Amino acid sequence: MSLTLTVDTDRWRQHQREVLRQFPGIIPVIKGNGYGFGNARLAAEADQLGVDMVAVGTYAELPEVRDAYSGDILVLTPWRPGVEATADSRVVHTVSRVSDLHDLLSADTSARVVVELATSMRRHGVAAPELASLAGERRVGDVVDALSKVRREGWALHLPLPVAGNHGSEVEAWISELRSSRLPADTLFVSHLSTDELTQVGAAHPDSTVRPRVGTKLWLGDRDTYRATATVLDVHPVHRGDHFGYRQRRVPGTGHLVIVAGGTAHGIALEAPSHVGSVRDRVKTLAQGGLEAAGRALSPFSIGGQRRWFAEPPHMQVSMVFLPAPAEPPAIGTELDVNVGMTLTNFDRRVFS
Ligand SMILES: *Cc1c(COP(=O)(O)O)cnc(C)c1O
Repeated sequence: MSLTLTVDTDRWRQHQREVLRQFPGIIPVIKGNGYGFGNARLAAEADQLGVDMVAVGTYAELPEVRDAYSGDILVLTPWRPGVEATADSRVVHTVSRVSDLHDLLSADTSARVVVELATSMRRHGVAAPELASLAGERRVGDVVDALSKVRREGWALHLPLPVAGNHGSEVEAWISELRSSRLPADTLFVSHLSTDELTQVGAAHPDSTVRPRVGTKLWLGDRDTYRATATVLDVHPVHRGDHFGYRQRRVPGTGHLVIVAGGTAHGIALEAPSHVGSVRDRVKTLAQGGLEAAGRALSPFSIGGQRRWFAEPPHMQVSMVFLPAPAEPPAIGTELDVNVGMTLTNFDRRVFS
């Protein structure tokens, strides 16, 4: 009676170990909804993998991960004044502004930090000119003094996805930048580099340790190891012209209304057909489906091997799907495949078999 995630645990772990082999020095990322599996579960998996550090997204995610995982925990969201100081020596902060370095240091003299650099992502980070001043202040003794007082664990580089180009060169440019600013390019924490790029950077800069932060590839990389399903809760035959639902619309034709577990509370949302290729095709399909007029959209639920249309927008915990005749309706209790975004979905049940 639920939206269920079923995991083939042995195969899932095999995949994790394979990714571990591909990415030496990996820092598993555990954040958000735990990539669908839950943060506590991922923390336990990371503990079993025996990695020395994991990363969480936010400070709020620390407690859950700290309980299930015994190594160091890097917080990816940059520290800002107002974040409660933590006395936990396992926590490594990310700092993205020079002023925050001072503030953190005055709040906690033993703080461990990673200094984030401003990459082409343009999200957070110390820019290259600031870096030069960072090093330049050696004379003044100010910032570098702060840098030398904190336990600096390395530098963080958040990079765009590989689809947006090769970013190994950006890492190399930063290594040069650090060196020319007379700052140690000892350890770099990076995201979204391919194994080839990591090997390349490693070979070109044997004095630098490059540690990849990996989430999606590690937890979700093998789609065959997990499956999302929704229970069919009810099935009603309908005829053209029948009214139904919250807004008492007419059904689009003769067939069945299939009531399925999974609604907005689970992260099930209206979706445009993603399988349709070009923008023009999409517009055509939308027009054909009378989507605008009927307020309908393609649902993530599959019946008879085919994605089906929502009869009306998903309710809080349930969705109404229209199955046109002559398709055979599923029996009540059947588990339907659901095409969900794993990082968006709150499952009722997670089964680790
Ligand atoms: C989420 C995140 C990652 C991991 O990204 P994936 O695409 O899930 O591997 C790495 N670094 C930072 C800063 C992130 O926020």
